Amino acid sequence: MMPAEIERIVSQNDIKYVLAQFVDIHGVAKTKSVPANCLMDVVEKGAGFAGFAVWGLGMEPHGPDFMARGDLNTFSVVPWQPGYARIACDGYVNNAPHPYCSRVVLKQQLARLAAKGWTLNTGVEPEFSLFTRDDKGALQPVDESDVLDKPCYDYKGLSRSRAFLEKLVESLQAVDFDVYQIDHEDANGQFEINYTYSDALTSADRFTFVRMAAGEIANELDMVCSFMPKPSSDRTGNGMHFHLSITDKDGQNLFHDADDKSGMGLSKLAYHFTAGLLAHAPALCAFAAPTVNSYKRLVVGGNASGATWAPAYICYGDNNRSAMVRIPYGRLEFRLPDSGCNPYLVTAALIAAGMDGVERELDPGEPMNINLYSLSLDEIKEKGVGILPQNLNEALDALEADSVFAEAMGSEIVSEFLKVKRAEWVEYSRHVSDWEVSHYAEF
Ligand code: ADP
Ligand code: MG
Ligand code: MG
Ligand code: MG
Ligand code: MG
Repeated sequence: MMPAEIERIVSQNDIKYVLAQFVDIHGVAKTKSVPANCLMDVVEKGAGFAGFAVWGLGMEPHGPDFMARGDLNTFSVVPWQPGYARIACDGYVNNAPHPYCSRVVLKQQLARLAAKGWTLNTGVEPEFSLFTRDDKGALQPVDESDVLDKPCYDYKGLSRSRAFLEKLVESLQAVDFDVYQIDHEDANGQFEINYTYSDALTSADRFTFVRMAAGEIANELDMVCSFMPKPSSDRTGNGMHFHLSITDKDGQNLFHDADDKSGMGLSKLAYHFTAGLLAHAPALCAFAAPTVNSYKRLVVGGNASGATWAPAYICYGDNNRSAMVRIPYGRLEFRLPDSGCNPYLVTAALIAAGMDGVERELDPGEPMNINLYSLSLDEIKEKGVGILPQNLNEALDALEADSVFAEAMGSEIVSEFLKVKRAEWVEYSRHVSDWEVSHYAEF
């Protein structure tokens, strides 16, 4: 029997199929279509998948099935695909939560906080790039023809993509996202969408939904919506900042303290949490910037519009958009992640790092309230500020060397992540690129 509220959504929206959805280790949505009358089977037993066919589930072709068990709290219509609903699922194998399932891993970290009566809230800022394909199939930014030096916030760019943007916003609003802004970002064809924060599990489920929506709505309009971290070498990449706060049972923000002498409105808890993020930043980077391409975003300079807006240095600062952790006031903004991340793993890793800072009462030191982009590497070093990993392999080395993540998130998911990502790095390193041919063919 379906609960009455679900029954109502199904009948009012003429739902015929439910997408039983989970993510692979990269954060990519995987689904099966389930006729609506079989929904409760998915909730109680799960939809069966051959786990070996999916990246990073740690399964073999001769083993048991991966059962995606629906979480009824996530049931919603799929507005761009009439007649369909979506339910986010947790992975189970042999009736036990599967330690390689990203959503399961996040829930375990959230349970650590719940044991203290705490809820982690996250507000994410997805950025993405809209492309069309030219005659040869190559991707072209939708508003490349404008060739503006500073396309950020430009009216023409926003207006000319409104068919896509309106459909995306309507789809998200229909499932109760509180969308409050959309803007054209600093690269041609690049946009950001903002909606009000929620508890961290809901935020991760929602970001997955945003990627599903944006990808399919673009496809219907003969466009490609990309969440690739850095589509173009001389323009800003697609970041996905995470705003963070922890609330207690009464909804009080435990990261906020109006008496904080720095003026940043932070509590002791928030300072310790920040110190944890700084202490573990190189390893955290592997989850937050998980692709070969991510490291082309995390650089200083080399950008047509003046700044990359991405962090390169391990520090925090008061409303400082050149620092890795910005303090907007009374909460944290972690600016490292990009839109290509797996939001479940990033959030779980943030808790692992932040809570290590809380448990060991680490001190983040003084905030850096200067434009870090304007400093030379020597000046950065003089200030004792660390530099983030410069490529995926360095970040993976840092993750392997930092035992906090495997201890908190489980050695299964961390070793699987390392295995999959090392293979990605090797494949990339062996690829001969156009750049190499143009530089070395006749030198
Ligand atoms: P900016 O571009 O200045 O970083 P945005 O408006 O794009 O800011 O995004 C801010 C995000 O922070 C939104 O998702 C917002 O809901 C979220 N946010 C606001 N307050 C909190 C809070 N207390 N805890 C977590 N997230 C928050
Ligand atoms: Mg089959
Ligand atoms: Mg923003
Ligand atoms: Mg932005
Ligand atoms: Mg931001």
